[in-house]
Amino acid sequence: MSPGLEVMTTVAAYRAACERLRAEGGSLAFVPTMGALHRGHLALVAEGRRRAANVAVSIFVNPTQFGPGEDFQKYPRPLERDLELCREAGVRLVFTPSPEEMYPRGERTRVHVSGLTDALCGPFRPGHFDGVATVVTKLFAATGAAVAVFGRKDYQQLQVVRRMAADLLLPIEIVGLPTVREADGLALSSRNVYLSPEERQRALAIPNGLSQALALHAAGERRAGALRHAVLELVEPAATRIDYVTVAEADELRPYADDARVGERALVALAAYVGTTRLIDNVVVSEDNSPIRTPP
Ligand code: AMP
Repeated sequence: MSPGLEVMTTVAAYRAACERLRAEGGSLAFVPTMGALHRGHLALVAEGRRRAANVAVSIFVNPTQFGPGEDFQKYPRPLERDLELCREAGVRLVFTPSPEEMYPRGERTRVHVSGLTDALCGPFRPGHFDGVATVVTKLFAATGAAVAVFGRKDYQQLQVVRRMAADLLLPIEIVGLPTVREADGLALSSRNVYLSPEERQRALAIPNGLSQALALHAAGERRAGALRHAVLELVEPAATRIDYVTVAEADELRPYADDARVGERALVALAAYVGTTRLIDNVVVSEDNSPIRTPP
């Protein structure tokens, strides 16, 4: 019989449960989420189970990473369904705190990771990565020694979290997993539920555009501008608004100018609105499979 799922809402109870599992001799994997779980999240849980004896998942829609006018209030929160999915996936602990629990009265501390947040989503979501780095620091501090599993769908977030954990000497190993996609290439996202059927169709321009960039790079194209414009050509007609399509150095996230040449590895990333829904996606050329390659 597999051990059951425990749900905790306070930091004290969650910290004690993590400590107990480690004391029982089991290593811990940690998967932070905002809930509305889908196959992408479950792939992170499965990787956690491969890497550790026990998996803890946090479900917390973090207010400090949403800007004014963003979707904090309407973000989906299907908690009972999420708990069921966690149970089926063999998760041991779910930590689902209130905002007051994570941000105690009088709180004043923010974690800022410089440089990595200057480009891509940074300028379009002021304060977003400070909110992310702050909440992930708190969650790591509550969890203690663990391997933490993140998705490369949020590539900039992954780089920020890696840097933060290393800089703050946290006892956490960070693992990044490839983006899980629908059969037609659209990256799974909790925000996809906002898309109307017609918008869902138009959103395919995003994986199609990224596939074009991968194909061009594979064919020898090294001009950053050519890769960028290949994506723009497909995404522009489909998007309501584009925040950015950027080709950047894959570790430091420094954007390439259009007239620069990229190396073997480069990040091609974008954020675009389809209707009122902001979607992000990315590929790392010479590393990622084509988003529109359907499984055999
Ligand atoms: P979220 O709940 O959107 O904050 O995401 C929680 C974690 O799941 C983050 O590490 C995300 O990068 C990851 N994630 C979200 N969507 C996907 C996906 N389609 N494939 C892989 N990981 C994902």
